[in-house]
Amino acid sequence: MIEVVEPATEQVIAELPRAGVEETDAAVARAKQAFEGWRAVSPPDRAALLHRLADALEEHAGELATTEARNVGKPIADARDEIEMVVHTFRYYAAAPERLLGQTIPVPGGVDMTFREPLGVVGLIVPWNFPLTIASWKVAPALAAGNTVVLKPAELTPLTALELERIALEAGLPEGVVNVLAGPGSVAGKRLVEHPDVAKIAFTGSTEVGRGIAEGSAATIKRVTLELGGKSANIVFADADLERAAASAPLAVFANAGQDCCARSRILVERSVVDRFLEALEETVDDMRVGDPLDEATQMGPLISADQREKVASFLSDDAPVAIRGTAPDGPGYWFPPTVLAPMSNSDRAAREEIFGPVACVIPFADEREAVEIANDTIYGLSGSIWTRDGAKALRTARAIETGVISINSNTSVRVSTPFGGFKQSGVGRELGPDALEHYTELKNVFYATEDG
Ligand code: NAD
Repeated sequence: MIEVVEPATEQVIAELPRAGVEETDAAVARAKQAFEGWRAVSPPDRAALLHRLADALEEHAGELATTEARNVGKPIADARDEIEMVVHTFRYYAAAPERLLGQTIPVPGGVDMTFREPLGVVGLIVPWNFPLTIASWKVAPALAAGNTVVLKPAELTPLTALELERIALEAGLPEGVVNVLAGPGSVAGKRLVEHPDVAKIAFTGSTEVGRGIAEGSAATIKRVTLELGGKSANIVFADADLERAAASAPLAVFANAGQDCCARSRILVERSVVDRFLEALEETVDDMRVGDPLDEATQMGPLISADQREKVASFLSDDAPVAIRGTAPDGPGYWFPPTVLAPMSNSDRAAREEIFGPVACVIPFADEREAVEIANDTIYGLSGSIWTRDGAKALRTARAIETGVISINSNTSVRVSTPFGGFKQSGVGRELGPDALEHYTELKNVFYATEDG
């Protein structure tokens, strides 16, 4: 059995059967059987079903947000925003079945046309930090394109994914189109990757596990998209609105207790304004409300598990330059206070590895050239921000940074309608926006002869 634990109380909130190889094979078989029927549903009918699924999720939004807040330990206000994004994601891709356009290409002797065909059964493997949100980024475009899915949530947070399976049936999606497997990655996940009837794996998780998935998928030449780790830079130039940059920086690292692949955990600050920036930052960190995820005022909850807390603590050696430390509750729960290390060098371990906890490094830089050099000195390339009032410098820097998504004078980079994904070892492929559909279809080229010869 899987024991599902509430990180804020350390209590078991659910026990579920643990899916193994046999259950995985059965889920793939159900998805395979449902595929021909689902791909044959006419585009407007498939669109209508996705809208119905969005409606049903909206009806259950309150319960889903509470379940997510309790299971992940995330603030209820954040969980509500996430479920809103889930609903929006299904609505956005509900428009896709009728817009999966091909091309006609001028050729001699006939007509040449292209079609976007579904892949078949798609395996979706997701992490514990944004369970239903990240699942929806994969399930919605996969279904819109006519695929059937087997979704494997993380063992720590399977509850909302299991609800999604139930809600999909309630909304009228045919049996077998959405299948959810609560099981360990090393067994159920691995089997999905190896399974000959799975055409593609869409994975979000750590770079280390992603590497194994890429290797495992090679045996059957599966299509693979990978959304992996990050160590993103938040670059603050001296000419920026420092107060705004400092007010925004803490939640850009500490939201979701730092367990966010987009966490801007390296704050690069131009040397001449480091002291002023740290002063302003301290005020915001001191004001952060860390506590009960179900309290409306909470901005940061606990970490996901005792293991995660131990891993995060390992980055704070006795001589770590702790410049700012917020508060965290005592007692049960995997609490960790928001912590800022300054000044740090980009070669320090805390600046190189993905901590996945509420620890930020402030790294001084001399000029634009050095800012870009430090920002790019990482194996990752997922997200990032630039703060400056100089528009040309902002755009030069945005183009020079090796990253998939970057924001200027803002720390937001994830939107339903815009592409999201990483450069370098942060991944392969894109989710969300119009581009995701490309990764859930095969391009077919058909030539129809209209002349002899
Ligand atoms: P993880 O890599 O440990 O696990 C992710 C998923 O993979 C889980 O469902 C797990 O059960 C499964 N898994 C584990 N071993 C497997 C195997 N051998 N074969 C198949 N599946 C396997 O990641 P996590 O700890 O759940 O999540 C944290 C990581 O996810 C961080 O590195 C974070 O940066 C990354 N992440 C990336 C994005 C993104 O969009 N780029 C978003 C969120 C999280």
